[in-house]
Amino acid sequence: MKVFKSALFLKNELTNGPLRVRSVGFVPTMGALHHGHLSLIKRGKEENDAVVVSIFVNPKQFNDSNDLSAYPRPIERDMEMLMEAGVEYLFHPDFDDVFSANDSNAEVELGNLDSVLEGAQRPGHFQGVAKVVKCLFEIITPARAYFGQKDFQQTVVIRRLVQRHFPDVQIVVCPILREPHGLAMSSRNERLDRQHRLKAGFVYKALLKLKERCHFKSLEEAMTSTIKYLKSIEGARLEYLSAVDATNMRVVEDLDEADCVVAVVVVEYAGVRLLDNIILKGALSESA
Ligand code: AMP
Repeated sequence: MKVFKSALFLKNELTNGPLRVRSVGFVPTMGALHHGHLSLIKRGKEENDAVVVSIFVNPKQFNDSNDLSAYPRPIERDMEMLMEAGVEYLFHPDFDDVFSANDSNAEVELGNLDSVLEGAQRPGHFQGVAKVVKCLFEIITPARAYFGQKDFQQTVVIRRLVQRHFPDVQIVVCPILREPHGLAMSSRNERLDRQHRLKAGFVYKALLKLKERCHFKSLEEAMTSTIKYLKSIEGARLEYLSAVDATNMRVVEDLDEADCVVAVVVVEYAGVRLLDNIILKGALSESA
């Protein structure tokens, strides 16, 4: 695996290096890798000549400086995992290597996607995500880029970004990988102690039950029961649970309002924000 800090050197390697990569599969990450990340890499390897993984803890997408400084950065272990997974290129830049272009601070047009739900809880977060992905796409010019359904609103933001700026990049959204008790895998799960981590599967359990209830109750009734359940869990604080149109994050009251409806949830549990989601109706367009 070749490791690059410099955007220029990476760009040169991809176009003029020995592999002269025709199709790059790109997996952007913030490191502290787990099997969820590896599933994106595996898919990228199947569909492209070579895979570029980036590890960059992007300060622009953190609205909480404590969260940023506490973010795990086990780079040695990450590199071992990437080598084992057969990744050809790791891009591990510093801030200026990514954001050197003059317009890298320009606002990305996201409609209201960055101000609803997760965007409302974390002001500036999705602008930060869109800015870093825009810069990374410009450096790497991937054929395909891989994102997890785990961060559902992020996938909608990225689709909006590529519609406007990168019509040739195919976005592939991969399923959520979970821990044995149902908790969606996340680098932040490391902050839970063993006991809370085992119990944290209640979020997924609630989503599964919500989906089941939708078969015989109205969406409104099913949501009310699920909210009640989530609020009853000791130590948990429900931030939001909403059913949304998967194409634009518009909240729906009824499943008939959209072809694909996703329930998105965030629960704070033992000091950690747990994000999860489930498709209540239809299917995500897997790639665009
Ligand atoms: P992060 O390092 O948290 O920015 O995540 C990098 C990519 O991995 C994002 O596209 C995430 O959605 C994806 N990802 C994170 N957790 C999971 C998971 N449990 N299953 C599948 N993909 C995931």
